[in-house]
Order: sequence, then C-alpha cells, then structure tokens
Amino acid sequence: MSYRNGIIETIGNTPLIKLKRASEETGCTILGKAEFMNPGQSVKDRAALFIIRDALNAGSLNPGGTVVEGTAGNTGIGLTLVGNALGLKTVIVIPETQSDEKKQMLRLAGAELIEVPAVPYKNANNYVKYSGRLAEELARTEPNGAIWANQFDNVANRQGHIETTAQEIWRDLDGKVDGFICAVGTGGTLAGVSMGLKEHNPDIVIGLADPMGAALYNFYKHGELKAEGSSITEGIGQGRITANLEGAQIDEAYQIPDAEALPVVFDLLSEEGLCLGGSSGINVAGAIRLAKELGPGHTIVTVLCDYGTRYQSRLFNPEFLREKGLPVPAWLDHAEAAAP
Ligand code: PMP
Repeated sequence: MSYRNGIIETIGNTPLIKLKRASEETGCTILGKAEFMNPGQSVKDRAALFIIRDALNAGSLNPGGTVVEGTAGNTGIGLTLVGNALGLKTVIVIPETQSDEKKQMLRLAGAELIEVPAVPYKNANNYVKYSGRLAEELARTEPNGAIWANQFDNVANRQGHIETTAQEIWRDLDGKVDGFICAVGTGGTLAGVSMGLKEHNPDIVIGLADPMGAALYNFYKHGELKAEGSSITEGIGQGRITANLEGAQIDEAYQIPDAEALPVVFDLLSEEGLCLGGSSGINVAGAIRLAKELGPGHTIVTVLCDYGTRYQSRLFNPEFLREKGLPVPAWLDHAEAAAP
C-alpha cells in the first residue's frame, strides 16, 4: 500500500523534465524541476512548509495561530494550504499589481487577503513592511497569537531548498549535474540549491537569471546593486541582498529581457505541453545562456516555478502583451479569434 498522509507529504519530490528544444539548441541536457506539480502549483510550497514547521518547532507559532505574510501570491497560496492542513489561519498582504488569478486562489483557499499599492521596498507601506507591522499587531490581539513568515529574511526558506530541492537534484542525477540556474524572488531557491549542491561538489556552476528591473545581475557582475528596465514577470526581481542570499556562492549572472524569456514560455506550452508562468521563461532562457557558456555535453538544471493558468489574464492575453509592446505568438492570437 502506498499513500501520502495529507497534502504536506505531497510537497517536493518533483520530477526533473528534459526540455527538448532547449537541449537540442545547446547540445546540453537541460532539465526543468517541475515545481508547478506541488499542491499549491509553485516552488513556494517548500518555503511555506519549512517556515511554518520551523516556527511550530521553535514554539513561536501555536496551534490555531495566525501566519501573516507579504507575498506576490505563491508563498501566500503555499502558506494557506499548509496552514489549512495544520489548523492555522493566514493573513496575506499582496501588491495590487499581482495577477487576479493568484488573488482568487488565495481567497478560495480561505486566506484573509489585504491588497496594498505596489510601492518600492524603501517605502514604509511596501507590502513586506506592511505585513511585518500587521503581524506584530496580530501577535498582541489574536487569541492564539500570530507570526510573520518573513520569507525574504527568514532562512528557514532556503533551508527547505538545502534539505529538499538540492538533495533531490543530486539524488535523481546520481551527482551528474554541471550547472544550476534560476531567478531570485527571496533568493531561497537559488541560495538553498547552491549551498546544498556545492556541499556535494563545489565545482557545480551556479547561475543567476535576473529579469530586467532587478538589481542582482549588476551586483554579482560588478558589485553594485543597480536596476534598469522592467519586466512583466511576477514573483521575481530583487533589489537587495536578502538574508536568504547572504553567504551563497553565485558563479555566473545573466540579465534576461522579457523579449527573450516570453517566447521560451510560449514554445514550452505549444511544443512541449508545459504550461508555465513567466519566471520559468526567465529560468529556461538563463539555462540556455549558461549551457552555451559551458558548451555541449553538460547537464544543467533549472526550475519550472509555477503553473501558467495563474497568468492567463496577462502573459497569455494578447491584449495585455500588445499593451506592453511584447510579441504575441500566432497561436495565441488564433486562440483569441476562435473563441465564441
Ligand atoms: N517564480 C515565482 C512565480 C515565484 O512566485 C517566486 C517566489 N516569489 C520565484 C520564482 C522565486 O523564488 P524564491 O523566492 O525562492 O527566490
């Protein structure tokens, strides 16, 4: 008999999927870790579980307590699903610019959702700082207490990737991995996988795939936190060195414009049946760049972060793409024309 004891046991152990076109184009084996197959359909289920488990173990979070977090959506979905399974409440603060699909999922799952204007981190009303203040207040007023998940600076986030994501990659490839690359939101995935893999083999090349509008490419390349341009991708693009990123070794960095990443997302769906969000496009485009740098014959892993239906009204909406001056694939235009 084989079964999982609740959704918590279904988080992680996601398969590595060989990406056909990216592999053919580069002569490398490019593998995507299918994080969209987690129960909350994103990589953030891992961080959510580790943050909640860590707080419960430390005694800072009690049964019936409340978890407060500022999130672009995916961490909130993970926290809410794990929270439901463990009898916890969730209060989620989200910038109003995030996709409606993520907000609807949060409401459906039972989170209390607070939408705030999207303002930079240095502003006191930024969603992250807002959620921290709210957590302090609720810790005083909620009968069973409250905690701030604080995914950016709570290293239980990257610990999840050190203990699970990195070990799964190493195990599934029998250690035959040459490179790993992904984008940064909190940095939990990139730093955690870097630390976990380098403990096995320090020669594995770790790459950052940075969207436009983020400051980390310039930091890792030139030592200066400097951003330029913008991106329609959600959940990634960092302007500072979070606690999760501190001490992690990053060997290569690439800046990936949307015009390079979005065709990758569209082709993965239309040619390989992989329905993914925009950050996965940045990641796979980054893996292609790293593969070209390392040369043919290498094995490179990246992350397929979340499921594409979460962005149907944006990334897969010809009108939205045209508004942003981005190319619309012919098949997507056709789908619109054929709709009743
Ligand atoms: N892609 C998506 C869609 C995300 O929501 C996130 C997390 N915000 C990431 C990538 C980046 O993951 P991390 O926070 O581990 O850097």
